[in-house]
Amino acid sequence: MQIKIVFRAAGLVCSLALAAIAQTRASVTVGPLTVQPGAKASGMIQVPSGKDEATTIPISVIHGAQSGPTLALVAGNHGYEYTPIIALQRLAPRLDPKQMSGTLILVHVANMPSFLKRTIYYSPVDGKNLNRVYPGKTDGTISERIAYQITKEVIERADYVLDIHCGDGNESLRPYSYWDVKAGGKEVVEKSKQLALAFGLERIVMDTERPTDPANSVYCSTTATTRGKPAITIESGGLGATDDESIARIERGVMNVMRHLKMIEGQPQMVEHPMFIDRSAVLRSDETGIFYPLVEKGHTVAKGALMGYVTDFFGKRIYELRAPFAGEVLYILGTPPVSKGEPLAMIGHVAETGR
Ligand SMILES: [Zn+2]
Repeated sequence: MQIKIVFRAAGLVCSLALAAIAQTRASVTVGPLTVQPGAKASGMIQVPSGKDEATTIPISVIHGAQSGPTLALVAGNHGYEYTPIIALQRLAPRLDPKQMSGTLILVHVANMPSFLKRTIYYSPVDGKNLNRVYPGKTDGTISERIAYQITKEVIERADYVLDIHCGDGNESLRPYSYWDVKAGGKEVVEKSKQLALAFGLERIVMDTERPTDPANSVYCSTTATTRGKPAITIESGGLGATDDESIARIERGVMNVMRHLKMIEGQPQMVEHPMFIDRSAVLRSDETGIFYPLVEKGHTVAKGALMGYVTDFFGKRIYELRAPFAGEVLYILGTPPVSKGEPLAMIGHVAETGR
């Protein structure tokens, strides 16, 4: 009888010890960084040279003391979009890993060549748009190799992804988010919607055009959704500005998403009156020349309204930009140069339901 009791007690001690081991949180490795629970670290993901030059991707990892989801924030897929880049600079020091659950991966500047050379849309090295070449490839040009590293080191390690943009250096933009309503299946689509509501921007573009093939995901956020990870794309700021309002909006949004995912304490505030944009269009120029906008971001335009025009280099009007349907101007070019085939504006129609 006595012996039995001793055995039972030993068994209890043994299972308690196992439980303690199970609760010990492991370190996390992202790119060159291995980070212990309750710690943060920063470093460079190396993008080796290939067909063209090498580059680096600066990242930080904040590894919470408690377990929870991994959230990735990607700034600078477009290097002339500064508000997300500065917002991440401000966010990193505000977060205490000892008070945090889960892991935050911050990609500070995804597209370093474009950032340092101040190019809109396209890389100065290979002429490609980084946010059109995901998931990338190891033997491609520099944009494709950057996309490959972000896919492998960041997106594939994350549970949730926020791809943070603003209007590019030439775009005057009002804040909104893109919600991919197709890729990843019903659960991913619903969780992505909740991310958008938690981020706090009222205008939510219901994006029906995104690809569903993970091998040809094209966009950064679609690389996540096609891999079963909820994700959204954020737009706040533009025209190469670093205005406090646009930056603070991103900071607030990220903190509220972290509350929503229970990574930090506090009740999340979801958008109370979302304005789902059920129809949207990027309006492109048929001509190369000088653009004159006649409406501003946030303006409501009627179907057929003249939104701006393009002249040739001698002042002759050669193209008129008209609204294809009634809607709100989400962005419009705020600088004169325009090349044939490039965007002049984006218009969105707010759904009657869901208001
Ligand atoms: Zn962008």
